[in-house]
Amino acid sequence: MPELPEPMTALLEALRRLPGVGRRSAERIAFHLLKGPKMDALELARAVERAAQLTPCPECFQLSEGGPCPICRDPARDAAVVCVVETPMDLLAIEKSGEFRGRYHVLGGRIAPLDGVGPEALTIGPLLRRVREQKVSEVILATNPDPDGDGTAMFLTKALEPTGAKVTRLARGISSGALMEQANRGVLSDALRARRAV
Ligand SMILES: [Zn+2]
Repeated sequence: MPELPEPMTALLEALRRLPGVGRRSAERIAFHLLKGPKMDALELARAVERAAQLTPCPECFQLSEGGPCPICRDPARDAAVVCVVETPMDLLAIEKSGEFRGRYHVLGGRIAPLDGVGPEALTIGPLLRRVREQKVSEVILATNPDPDGDGTAMFLTKALEPTGAKVTRLARGISSGALMEQANRGVLSDALRARRAV
């Protein structure tokens, strides 16, 4: 039986390591990329290569092109209010609401016991240090309104208690289970305005 050329096998293997991509989808994506003009495939390759150079901002862990990100560098943003999100995409969703003028902290995921993700896998240590050292007065927990997001918020509330910072949680404007990044702008700004103490 003829074998696939090695570069094709390597591509399929790389695709299969992506979340939610099984053998069939990997094949579909690979053949789609390689049929016809190769411009799309090369553009994707270049975009991945460039994005892979991004490094986490040393302050907030948002992906940055080296050093502190533009939000952490912006003196007009209130450093005393920190909004904690799961992913860089969630940060962008809140940023788009235009409602928030503080800073952020990207956890890099959420505590998910069933997936084997514990608190040590997230940037919780640096968050606690930041709240203590930079005299943060309010921490807004903007983890997703689903069981793991709520569990993460509960964990953080406890962990933040000794710092004395006020801890708030986004109001349930976002219907339970809706992902932060899919919530629309108006809903997110309502949820921010109506945030409540935990
Ligand atoms: Zn930053």
